[in-house]
Amino acid sequence: MHATLPLLEVSDFPAIRRKPLETLQVNLGYKCNQTCVHCHVNAGPNRTEMMSRETISDVIAFLKASRVKTLDLTGGAPELSPHFRGLVLAARNLGVHVMDRCNLTILEQPGQDDLARFLANHAVEVVASLPCYLEENVDAQRGKGVFEASIRALKTLNALGYGHPGPGLALNLVYNPQGPTLPPAQEQLERDYHRYLGERFGVVFNRLYVLTNMPIQRFGSTLISKGRFAHYMALLKNAYQPENLESVMCRTLISVDWRGYVYDCDFNQMLGLPLRVKGRPRVHLRDLAGPDLEGNPILVKDHCYGCTAGQGSSCGGALAA
Ligand code: SF4
Ligand code: SF4
Repeated sequence: MHATLPLLEVSDFPAIRRKPLETLQVNLGYKCNQTCVHCHVNAGPNRTEMMSRETISDVIAFLKASRVKTLDLTGGAPELSPHFRGLVLAARNLGVHVMDRCNLTILEQPGQDDLARFLANHAVEVVASLPCYLEENVDAQRGKGVFEASIRALKTLNALGYGHPGPGLALNLVYNPQGPTLPPAQEQLERDYHRYLGERFGVVFNRLYVLTNMPIQRFGSTLISKGRFAHYMALLKNAYQPENLESVMCRTLISVDWRGYVYDCDFNQMLGLPLRVKGRPRVHLRDLAGPDLEGNPILVKDHCYGCTAGQGSSCGGALAA
């Protein structure tokens, strides 16, 4: 795979600083039952990097000590961590809202038969990738049979109360473009998803989060292989909207890797760019007090233009929405 960081290092992206911390995003490990083309984690079934029990304890201690309101669990497939359920229970007991970034097909993996019910019983928000409502596009990006399995999983979640209008169990879907283009307007696409999935499959969900593909890892490497990297960067930069700077997710979120080290966001984690506090080259979660980070500079490079292009992009979808 081609390294993308050398192409992103020299950057004119504006300097930005942190606001009070709201969300702790934790990567429980790179193991996944899928190997999607656009995965910015390079996750897959053969990855062995998984968070240890000791580091899970550091996460729980941080939740207790900080005023973080939301725990955002990601991976790989976070549910493949042997500590996933214990961490969810600990966070919910502390009154922390928990989000599970779920690939949907995990619900059909061996040993996960009761996963959907576990998530529902503990009011875990499900954020699920479904990069298109058309089968051939999803299978091209995420693997053969993934669309059908995803629809079955969505129906299972709906039957447990997920995705219905109102304040119940939240089921939000995630879209990203198939190729090196900016995503379409989130609101219109959300309406299309609602209509198609509802009419065709009887599936309901709450929100659609539209994400821009970041020019890093597997997607960035593919761009380099095809000679499209510079073109894609120009597309992102030409669509730069300065008002998105106020709400890029790194303002209020920190991202923790499977070893417990802290980053300004998931993308910086994947690029190996740790959070810098008081000149330290990297910081472990156990050494960090959340509220102290307000005003801390954020480590930005050219990939940050992926967050500010057009309607903006974050783990919660468009910034302008
Ligand atoms: S399901 Fe998610 S984590 Fe797994 S390979 Fe696909 S994009 Fe990566
Ligand atoms: S890539 Fe990360 S650090 Fe850069 S703007 Fe986006 S969220 Fe912030």
